[in-house]
Amino acid sequence: MLGSLPPFDYHQPSTIEEAFDLMRRLDGNVSLYAGGTEVLVALKEGKLKPQALIDIKRIPELGGIQADNGTLRLGAAVSTRAISRSPVVRERFPLLSEALKILGSMQIGNRATLGGNLANASPAADSAPPLLTLQASLRLVSPKGERSVALEDFFLAPGKTVLDQEILTEVRIPSAPAQGRGVFYKLGPRGAPEDICIVSVAVFVTADAQRKSWQDVRIALGAVAPTPVRARHAEAALQGQPIGDKTAKEAARLAAEKDANPITDIRGSASYRGAMVQVLVERAVDRLARDLRESAR
Ligand SMILES: Cc1cc2nc3c(=O)[nH]c(=O)nc-3n(C[C@H](O)[C@H](O)[C@H](O)COP(=O)(O)OP(=O)(O)OC[C@H]3O[C@@H](n4cnc5c(N)ncnc54)[C@H](O)[C@@H]3O)c2cc1C
Repeated sequence: MLGSLPPFDYHQPSTIEEAFDLMRRLDGNVSLYAGGTEVLVALKEGKLKPQALIDIKRIPELGGIQADNGTLRLGAAVSTRAISRSPVVRERFPLLSEALKILGSMQIGNRATLGGNLANASPAADSAPPLLTLQASLRLVSPKGERSVALEDFFLAPGKTVLDQEILTEVRIPSAPAQGRGVFYKLGPRGAPEDICIVSVAVFVTADAQRKSWQDVRIALGAVAPTPVRARHAEAALQGQPIGDKTAKEAARLAAEKDANPITDIRGSASYRGAMVQVLVERAVDRLARDLRESAR
């Protein structure tokens, strides 16, 4: 049950250096606060008791959506709704736009940030599967410097990432093949797509020039392993194969049997999750096959 908020100090630095200075002065007894949709719940549940919140949402370095040299840069403090609605994201990465459109209700989406969704490291984070298939990388900054980490190497366990006294400032998406296509499917409790998912699946593919065989195949799964994961067995089953019904079925079976490693929790049992991975992967691959066939006509 949610209690009342404990006392804490609140700081709103206007630069990243100021944020690090506060972290140092408060000896790490702080919580970074972006949209606060996770932090406020954790405070009310008594799971988080920092001396201070450091609100990073107004730091310009964490804002903005920019396309340069083919790479799309999404500021970590941009709201998921703003990213979903961005014309450049809708045009270049509709897969991501679609996924973020149903990340929570409108109220949640207007507060929740992309950086918070990733840094929180929930296996069910909606932004993770599409960003994994888009081969995103993250810019992590600390007082000592900065590094770039592939999203695939970022998550360690539920609630754990490689972040080490660092701030995630930016998500970078390299240019995707122009003919690439993607789809995101999310199964929410009681059929509500805006809720935290039971299973999610993102698939991004390209085909050969004649649209006869699968080429660059990338599949990622959410909420069926300790972290969001690429479904490598399923991907290998499609790679270079003719586009057709049998390949979709086999890839879906492998995704459920070899790539997913679900647990039972309040949202669903392990066996239900496994079955739904199979259904959603097959559905996604079938839909992309149909789209590719239609675009070849
Ligand atoms: C009612 C409700 C419905 C929800 N529905 C969904 C859903 O459908 N799909 C979904 O994926 N999620 C959902 N969520 C979860 C949540 O909204 C998201 O995870 C959100 O994106 C978190 O972002 P935030 O900015 O609010 O993070 P915050 O709460 O501000 O922070 C979350 C964590 O990340 C850290 N952090 C934040 N930003 C950074 C940064 N830039 N660098 C380093 N660390 C950082 C914070 O210190 C904290 O530990 C829901 C939450 C609620 C309350």
